[in-house]
Amino acid sequence: MAKKLFIPGPVDVAPEILQAMATPMIGHRMPEYALLHKGVKEKLKKVLFTEQRVFLATSSAFGVMEGAVRNLVGKRCANFCNGAFSDKWHDVTRRCGKEADQFKVEWGKPVTPELVDQALATGRYDAITLIHNETSTGVMSPLPEIAEVLRKYPEVVSIIDTVSSMSALCIPVDELAIDCCIFGVQKAFALPPGLAVFTASEKALERCRGIEGRGYYFDFLEFAANDVKDNTPSTPCISQIYAMDRQLDRFFAEGLEQRWARHREMAELVGGWVRERGYGFLADEPYRSVTLTCAVNDRGTDLAALKKRLGERGYAFDDGYGKIKGKTFRIPHMGDMQPADLADFLGVIDEITATL
Ligand SMILES: *Cc1c(COP(=O)(O)O)cnc(C)c1O
Repeated sequence: MAKKLFIPGPVDVAPEILQAMATPMIGHRMPEYALLHKGVKEKLKKVLFTEQRVFLATSSAFGVMEGAVRNLVGKRCANFCNGAFSDKWHDVTRRCGKEADQFKVEWGKPVTPELVDQALATGRYDAITLIHNETSTGVMSPLPEIAEVLRKYPEVVSIIDTVSSMSALCIPVDELAIDCCIFGVQKAFALPPGLAVFTASEKALERCRGIEGRGYYFDFLEFAANDVKDNTPSTPCISQIYAMDRQLDRFFAEGLEQRWARHREMAELVGGWVRERGYGFLADEPYRSVTLTCAVNDRGTDLAALKKRLGERGYAFDDGYGKIKGKTFRIPHMGDMQPADLADFLGVIDEITATL
């Protein structure tokens, strides 16, 4: 039996979505594909509140995260790091042969506008990478305040990862001065993994034109050239794009604001449970994520035993990521999860911990 996924990605996918993936195949140079592609793009623009170009890439998020660095970093990149995914992005930036510095923040803390300002005031950087919602620590950095800072530095291209937050709350890409917004689909979007979405502002595309070594597969200018024909440079994951199309319709059927409210409600539900059971929080308010809660194991629960017992009951559980594994555990509340699913899961944890 398949386990019910209570891990922060991949998350459970609705049967209707899996069915959409069984749609008979079409060729990506056929008019049917352009129609599908255009429709998905238009719907995504509504979810992202953007008039910028929206591209579909066949890869997980890190494909485009690497691509963005290769396309957009000219002089030097400031990588803001407050968790495992942002640390890795710095490593990826260096591996692409780019000059880059890491601005480290303690795990569990947000990247602040002050830190971004300090870094950019040096005049050394023409690009930044930032993860909006650090999935390893359950921290959301304050994008509106950071956007205010970014406006002071028009020469800087902002590359922002919203993998585990896009669609769970309002992230108006254009208003937030995001030049390149990137997300994979197996987390907040609740789709099977393998598709990534990204935006590029005119400023970002202008930057690409002067950059050598963009490669081919993630060359943003190739994406832009094909976008005009509602197409992609190489063969896309058509089945996943059918799934995305269906999922976007489901978003609108639920209502974007209702979707945001459902995530807030679930975050409050888990927050209350964590507090009542005597666990701690890795993140402080107001930076606690709406899509997952990273609890500190103050009660000294045997997390390995809990994970094993939950597995026997058909639930996949996450006992922390990277260097905070075992000391923390993460409860996701993203994608299509409903408050009732979460209440059921927390109830099962209570039953098990009572007997450990
Ligand atoms: C999961 C995750 C990634 C990595 O995504 P892949 O799809 O595995 O490449 C990057 N950033 C964040 C914030 C994530 O949660």
